[in-house]
Amino acid sequence: MIIPLLKGLRLTFTRLFSRPVTIQYPEQKREVAPRWRGVHYFEGNEKGDTCCVACGLCVTICPSQCIRLVARELEGGERYPEFYEINTVRCIYCGYCAEACPVNAIKLGGNYEFVDYRRDDLVLDKERLLANNPQEV
Ligand code: SF4
Ligand code: SF4
Repeated sequence: MIIPLLKGLRLTFTRLFSRPVTIQYPEQKREVAPRWRGVHYFEGNEKGDTCCVACGLCVTICPSQCIRLVARELEGGERYPEFYEINTVRCIYCGYCAEACPVNAIKLGGNYEFVDYRRDDLVLDKERLLANNPQEV
């Protein structure tokens, strides 16, 4: 009877003085791994627009079919996304879109705090994707 009690107390005291595994979130935040796949963002170009060339590879590869793109072509043959949208409600954060992008325009960042009251607000358009770029914040 006394042995299990002592074992329990030993466990309690070891844990009492060991490093806590919990943190005071949201005041304290954990560092995420470099390959963490959080909320998407667009890399910008020198004009402040996205460097996406509207090739459509991300749309094709996305297993959740949550990317919508309307491509436009300029006179010189340069392509750009007139409309680009990611529905993060359907996204499974697989990162395939970022892997497939030939110009590294779409990326998944470290932000894991992405909540809202309305589903519509969880849809990221071009402007929001650009604003999500951690270098812009
Ligand atoms: S992370 Fe995966 S599911 Fe989400 S938009 Fe990219 S390809 Fe689609
Ligand atoms: S984000 Fe990348 S893969 Fe997707 S359309 Fe633009 S350039 Fe192509």
